[in-house]
Amino acid sequence: MRLATLEHRVVLLLGDEVADIATASDGAFGPDPMELYEQWDRFVDWASGPVTATGPLDLSLLGCPVPMPRQVFAIGLNYRAHAEESGMEIPTVPAAFTKFPASLSGPFDDIELVGEMNDWEAELVVVMGRRADRVDEAAGWAHVAGLTIGQDVSDRLLQFAAAGQFSLGKSRRGYGPIGPCVVTAEEVADPDNLGIGCSVDGVTVQEARTDDLIFSVPALIAELSAVVPLLPGDLIFTGTPAGIGLVREPPQFLQRGQVLETWIEGIGTIRNRCV
Ligand code: ZN
Repeated sequence: MRLATLEHRVVLLLGDEVADIATASDGAFGPDPMELYEQWDRFVDWASGPVTATGPLDLSLLGCPVPMPRQVFAIGLNYRAHAEESGMEIPTVPAAFTKFPASLSGPFDDIELVGEMNDWEAELVVVMGRRADRVDEAAGWAHVAGLTIGQDVSDRLLQFAAAGQFSLGKSRRGYGPIGPCVVTAEEVADPDNLGIGCSVDGVTVQEARTDDLIFSVPALIAELSAVVPLLPGDLIFTGTPAGIGLVREPPQFLQRGQVLETWIEGIGTIRNRCV
């Protein structure tokens, strides 16, 4: 199942068509994408039956698929090769911070750069379905609604100001494009081992597989939910692989006019122009 947001309404993607969920369900569900996660089990039941398309799919019109989660967790240094390139030890607990929810944006939105030290971070993003409170790792996946693609765009100058403030440095307006859709785990070949990467103006700068994650998706759910409940619709940006611009020789940052493309196997591609 593939969920997206079209003109602020939640839709199911059905090949080259969409089903507006409020219309197709005769009002059993509303158009608000966030409300759907509150009723995730009931929605999955309904969607397992026949669903009729209500219109054509125009990818370029898709908006942020999870526009206003209550909590957005993000994890630093979660790929072995990225921890090594950053000169850091392999962490024994997840290095967590937040991207403030108002920084999220759509899969094809422009990124309005501020300053000159903006970096890319391709990331697998988890969308929570069921509330997770002190969940064991073995039960982690059962609490996930689906997966999407994210860019944890980072203003490195702000991130390392004031002795380090990851949350603010990664939360400038529009610095969290996600999408193009939320894909349920059974739709991908192996949700623990997906190809992920990104390119700048067509030149690949990151390319990895998610089986290199230090803390897997279910391990992150166990670690985070031991501290605070994870709520339906919450996001977890699971960390970025090696290849960020900051550690290149010389360092490389996003420039206005460049196009940042980010992909994950089985999910799709998001494309954001820097302006
Ligand atoms: Zn990141």
